[in-house]
Amino acid sequence: MEFLASSLLELITQTSTNLPPDVRAQMATAGVREVPGTQASQAFSIILSNIDMANEGEGAICQDTGMPTFFVHTPPGVSQLAIKKTIQEMVAEATKRGKLRPNSVDSLTGKNSGNNLGEETPVFHFEQWEEDEIEIRLILKGGGCENTNAQYSVPCVLDHLGRADRNLEGVRKCILHAVWKAQGLGCAPGAIGVCIGSDRAHGYDLAKRQLLRTLDDVNPNPELAKLEAGIMEEANKLGVGPMGFGGNVTLIGCKITAANRLPASFFVSVAYDCWAFRRLGVRLDAKTGAITKWLYRDPSRPVDQMTEGEGFPLTGREIALTPPLTEAQARALKVGDVVLISGDMFTGRDSVHAHLMKNPPPVDLNGAVLYHCGPVMLKEASGWVTKAAGPTTSIREEPYEADVIKRYGVRAVIGKGGMGAKTSAAMKEFGAVYLNAIGGAAQYYARTVEQVPAVHLLEFGIPEAMWQMRVKDFMAIVTMDAHGKSLHADVERATGEELEKLSR
Ligand code: SF4
Repeated sequence: MEFLASSLLELITQTSTNLPPDVRAQMATAGVREVPGTQASQAFSIILSNIDMANEGEGAICQDTGMPTFFVHTPPGVSQLAIKKTIQEMVAEATKRGKLRPNSVDSLTGKNSGNNLGEETPVFHFEQWEEDEIEIRLILKGGGCENTNAQYSVPCVLDHLGRADRNLEGVRKCILHAVWKAQGLGCAPGAIGVCIGSDRAHGYDLAKRQLLRTLDDVNPNPELAKLEAGIMEEANKLGVGPMGFGGNVTLIGCKITAANRLPASFFVSVAYDCWAFRRLGVRLDAKTGAITKWLYRDPSRPVDQMTEGEGFPLTGREIALTPPLTEAQARALKVGDVVLISGDMFTGRDSVHAHLMKNPPPVDLNGAVLYHCGPVMLKEASGWVTKAAGPTTSIREEPYEADVIKRYGVRAVIGKGGMGAKTSAAMKEFGAVYLNAIGGAAQYYARTVEQVPAVHLLEFGIPEAMWQMRVKDFMAIVTMDAHGKSLHADVERATGEELEKLSR
């Protein structure tokens, strides 16, 4: 199969860089439902222009390219072993080219393999079928949304919704609860795949497979079709909005299947995918491996631009910040302020935070801006180049951040989804703020990085190292200030009240 390798490399590259048309269509209509000038609308502007930038530059839409998961169908006589080997080679090649972030970490040693290969990575699902061609579908679903997957064992009692019983009404409550819990963490607006029934492990698998359906299809089962439509309507009344900023659009898709279960079990499994809903597929000639057809794409429909310009329109009210920041500068910022950072900032996520608990920082963090980000970086002749650099979910650093602020004098933390009460208290006491960048906008933010002067702790792997990034006009929104105010806490409270209204 002389074309198999090139076809697979193209599938991986396109999946990572070019959002499928059904997702583009949903995002385009969703964007106009937000009120201009709001944080939700600003988030949409950046997300939509990021989608265009990724396509134009063939860069990763989001820096977190997830656990590559392949669904392969082969006719009898085709070697699945040969296909598996070629997929592994092309995953490594796509990683080398910066289309995938090195994401495969040994769970015992913590070592990143550097090429996305390792025990059980990537993930394969092989099946034989009666057709003459090979079909390969790929989902790239990042850690932020993977962490928000949820599984309920009904009957159970849910916050704001009360008891969920073993019937469709109970299922409805579980799904709404999962969408509400994902706020801010899974880069809303998102889409969900749901499985009612099965066992724990297969239920999650079937829920994820629902994400292979197009967002605009209609469930052939009328009862499930009605449930899907009802969830879409109710979830979008919650007010979670893009990035959990509050707003009109929370979900862009809901796909539900049902599978038989054991009499003693009743699981509802929810697979949450973010707006960076990356899945594509190809049909291949079984003899040559050449692509005969793209799935999810309509050759008669060109890929439309999502926006006219780049980013979001400046209002003139943005606050320019140049690190290192003083305590007075941090205390002057208020929730809702939009800032434009120019100068040096440092990345730090899980490994760096754990490291800082026992070791001094490799750089002076006094007044620093600390960015929760695991970028895609490539070493070129001129030095390190930032290929993708959106924020990661900040709440994972909640056990550490208050100490980092107190010990080292960090004045601004950038990430997504907000942080908890301990960090908020430290910000108030020592004078620091939390800035929410737009999750998934990896190309938009990569373009603000003018230079990478240094890297520290590279032994943690590329995503976990501490990168010094010299940025220009890096946009973020103050969502937790030094006065104890938190947009995230406000939205959680307000959406919780809305959820309660849906308890029936
Ligand atoms: S868009 Fe957000 S949730 Fe989705 S993969 Fe990227 S960082 Fe994770």
